[in-house]
Amino acid sequence: MTKSNLLKGVSNRLKSKGLQKLRWYCQLCEKQCRDENGFKCHCLSESHIRRVHNFGTNQQSTVAEFSRAFELNFLKHLQCSYRHTRVEATRVYNEVISHKEHIHMNATKWTTLTEFLKHLASKEGCEIEETPKGWFILYRPTDSEEALRMRLNNKRERENVNERSIEKVIISQSKSCKSSAPNIPSPSKMQMGKTVQTFTLKPKPECISHAQEALDCQWICVGLVVRVKAKQSLGKGVVSAINRLHLVTVSFAIGIFQEFSQAELEPVVPKIGASVFIISGSLKGAKAELLGIDLKRKEARIQMVDDGHRADKIVGLSEICKFEESRLVGLTSTEQTHALA
Ligand SMILES: [Zn+2]
Repeated sequence: MTKSNLLKGVSNRLKSKGLQKLRWYCQLCEKQCRDENGFKCHCLSESHIRRVHNFGTNQQSTVAEFSRAFELNFLKHLQCSYRHTRVEATRVYNEVISHKEHIHMNATKWTTLTEFLKHLASKEGCEIEETPKGWFILYRPTDSEEALRMRLNNKRERENVNERSIEKVIISQSKSCKSSAPNIPSPSKMQMGKTVQTFTLKPKPECISHAQEALDCQWICVGLVVRVKAKQSLGKGVVSAINRLHLVTVSFAIGIFQEFSQAELEPVVPKIGASVFIISGSLKGAKAELLGIDLKRKEARIQMVDDGHRADKIVGLSEICKFEESRLVGLTSTEQTHALA
């Protein structure tokens, strides 16, 4: 198609507003002419003559094709606009032919609308009725869309039935509860002051055991003299504080303070004759005098300071630690317990 032809087609479409006269419409070429002269010209055109010739040799199939297209178009309009609705046939027809590109009925095998309606009556889902007011048509489509719609409706109904039965069960249960327990006042009648109760919060047994375990494992306390395992060069230091996160602040003789975890530290064993603090075992928390050291067996002989009998005891070397008397804060003090909480 050349550019001029294209423009001509567009301008013609713009000019042809609404329906044009049927007698100037060529169904074979599906072309609407605007006046008699135009129609005459069209009838003399080469393309029209060729189509007429084809139609002459193939009349029946051409008409059948137009008929099929017209019927499809009509049914489609019914499906979209008048599902399950009784409607005047002429109304549907007028709506169908109001579309400019429709197949004209005079191109089909039906000469009148009545004839076409009688044909439709044989179709599935179409009900035709003749009344004094004219022909009426009722279309009940049986397509897949309708089947889906039916399935959804059925499902919805089933769900409603289920909901209703559940509701009944709940109501009957609540009724039986009320009748079996008539003395329980409803919440609205309760007095707020009377509903307040006192509860004693007790820690779970496993929590207590965990805390006890941690307390048993902790040997470090403020005032002990310790060494840093990985930094022996720092020399001896005194534990000056233990914070809530169990970080131990150690002050060293050279005037520096550093934080360590307990695992990074080891106890210092003093010279014989000095006082030691027992940091583990059954005597944990007590003070004693160091009487002797057996390096081979890693044992120490001690004498309990506040023991009336002054009996010697043998303990592991790792169970005793040098301490500074003035700064010592024993494991049993509230500060230590607090640090573990
Ligand atoms: Zn034509």
